[in-house]
Parts: sequence; structure tokens; C-alpha cells
Amino acid sequence: MTVPAAHIVTVADQLFCPDRPPIDCPAGALVAGELRRRGVPTQLGPLRLTGPGSHPDALASVLSGADGPIGLGVAPALGKARAVLLGWLAVADRPRSVLLAAPRSFCAGVDRAIEVVEQALAQRGSPVYVRKQIVHNTHVVNDLRARGAVFVEELAEVPDGACVVFSAHGVSPAVRADAARRGLAVIDATCPLVTKVHVEARRYAARGDTVVLIGHAGHEEVDGTLGEAPEHTVLVQSAAEVADLRVDDPARVSYLTQTTLAVDETAEVVAALRARFPKLRGPASEDICYATTNRQDALDAIAAESDLVLVVGSTNSSNSRRLVELAHRRDTSAYLIDDVADIRPEWLAGVSVVGLTAGASAPPGLVDEVVAALGGLGSVTVTERETTRETIRFSLPSAVRPPGARTPEAQTSDAGTP
Ligand code: SF4
Repeated sequence: MTVPAAHIVTVADQLFCPDRPPIDCPAGALVAGELRRRGVPTQLGPLRLTGPGSHPDALASVLSGADGPIGLGVAPALGKARAVLLGWLAVADRPRSVLLAAPRSFCAGVDRAIEVVEQALAQRGSPVYVRKQIVHNTHVVNDLRARGAVFVEELAEVPDGACVVFSAHGVSPAVRADAARRGLAVIDATCPLVTKVHVEARRYAARGDTVVLIGHAGHEEVDGTLGEAPEHTVLVQSAAEVADLRVDDPARVSYLTQTTLAVDETAEVVAALRARFPKLRGPASEDICYATTNRQDALDAIAAESDLVLVVGSTNSSNSRRLVELAHRRDTSAYLIDDVADIRPEWLAGVSVVGLTAGASAPPGLVDEVVAALGGLGSVTVTERETTRETIRFSLPSAVRPPGARTPEAQTSDAGTP
């Protein structure tokens, strides 16, 4: 349905005031986001307070930013538009600090998975089918969709003989077999650290163990790992569930974990398993991946100092949700935001220090946009706290590896071990 232009609220991305240069409005995306949540058709654009094309019903304010004046404004400033602007002005014009957690945002597995789709599109052309979201982020998926990727839930939606990419979360052997039966050209973007867990599942089951998989029911990675040895694997989601576990032989029990769990909560589950099965065996190195661990450690380093924590990530991103929960366990209010437009003015009331991070599937540019928008509410000082430096890279699968590209599966020199 087309909305008449007169009903669309203009949110200023630049203010044109009498007798002064144009004023940038970096917080326009915040105002626009709140208006859209309230069902108000909204556009970002220049707002003229004087001269030809000026908006007679505009309401605008000029504030002090870190590098000069900044503006906030809407037109027409009636009803909800006026109320929303006043709501943002009520939390603006106070100095704030932003504590940036590092590492944050893309990990090596996500970088690789996105590049797999990009290379497939470049080498084979559109459409390239992708089973499930390539990584759990709406921005990444929408961007690749716009470039020709076709996201499907199941292989049945892929035409015979077409090219299909398996997502970073991995698939069960049954899905691989189905693809082979259908003659699909498979490109596997499964993160090598997820593949590691699959290999362990097969090995533990082959030696006759009951495999206890610690993870979240319904997550794609868990579905894929469970599929490696479904007769021998049981899923446990919390320490409380350990008491009810039934196994064939208590002396032959191994555990595995989803790669994106909370480190401290998983340790509790493993401790409960060990108390019940003293001969419990597990992986030589943690299944919770380096990226998940590093992002949790980095957030832990800033959470207690923050009045508010914002985690950039999509709602289906497991590692992003674990970051929000971690902040809550440190008694800091925290919210998961897909992007800057999700931030609500009431979250910032009385807040001087904003902790900011992003899950492993969230593009780094979204974090920059949050910093810029907060800077549109007043002077902001940004400090980055780096707890470790990540240098892990995974090479592309041979199906899409450009000629001359490096072939080792992984290089690592940071604290994490792939
Ligand atoms: S979060 Fe960990 S397991 Fe998942 S893609 Fe990134 S590196 Fe791989």
C-alpha cells in the first residue's frame, strides 16, 4: 500500500537552520526506529527550518556533540512524531562513554561462510541456493539475498542438479545423503570448529559410549551433531536435566557441547555430569569455540563498569544471546539489537556508560552505526577494551577456492585453539 507523502514523517539526517552551515543528525536512525515501531511511516532526509522547501511543522533541536553541533528533528512534529522526538531529547545532551568490547563481531567461521556464498555467486552466478541462514544474522542474509542467494529451509526446495551451500552451522549425514541422491552440487560452509564436534560425535559413538550433547534443542548446529549418531546421543540443556539422564553403561559416557554456549553455565553442566558419571570422557580441547569464549571474556571485562550493555546480533544468534545473558548475570541491564533502529530511548535514561559488543555473526559496521547514533545524542567518548587479539583464519573449501589461494584449513596464533 502506498502511503501519501503528507502522512510520512521526515526524520532529519541533516538540519538546515538560518545563518549557519548544515548540521548533521547522526541520531536520526534512533528516532526513525522508534517511530516505525509505533507504526508511523517514516523517511530519513534533510529538514529545512527556513527558506524554500522548509517544513512549517518541524520541531528540531541543536545539541553539543564531540566535534561540534549535532541536530535532532522531525516534521511534521505532531502526535506520535512529536512525542517520540521529545522522548529522545529527554535522554540527549548528556556526555556518555562507550566501552567497546574486543574481540566482537565476525569470527573466522562466519567470515568464511559469507565468503563461500560470495565466491559461489561470483563463480557460478545466481541463483545459488543456501540451506538455512548461512549465519544467524538478518543483515548478512538480506545482503546476500539481494546479491542472488536463495535461502531455503530444506533441500526439497532446491531444484535437482542445482548448487546448494550448507550453512556454517553444519548438517546431519542424512542431509548430505539426500543432497547426493538428488545430484545437488554441494558447497559446504560448515565451520571447521563445528566439523570438529561432528568428528568427535562419530568417534565417541564408535567406541560404544553414550554421547551426551550439551546444547539447545532445535538449534541447527545441535540438529546436525545429533544426526551423526542419533541412536547413541542424548541432548542435555541444563545441569538440572543431568539427574534424569538414562544411559546404557555409566562407565561409558562422553560429552560434547554446542560451540556457542555460555562458558560458565556449560562448566556447571559438565560438573554435574562428572559427579554422576565419574568416568566421564570429553573432548581434548573445548568444543565451545575460541570466538564464543573470547567474546564472553571481552564482555565480562566491561559489563560491571557499564550502566547498560548493547549486544548487536539477531534473535536467533546463540552466541549473541549468551552475551546478553552474561551481562544480566553481572547485574547489568542488557539488550540484543539487530541494529541501531532497535535502541529505545528509555534504555538510555540515566545511563552514562554504554557497554557495546556484537555476536560473532553480526557485521562490524553495525557497531560503528550504534557508536555514531549515540554520538548524535551528545558528546561521546569511545574506549576499546581488548582482552585478546584474534588472528584465526579458515581457508575456503576447495569447491570455491580461487586459484592460488592458501590451502591450509586454519592458521591460528591467538589464545584460542581451533
Ligand atoms: S562462532 Fe565459533 S563455531 Fe560458530 S562459526 Fe564462529 S568460529 Fe565457528
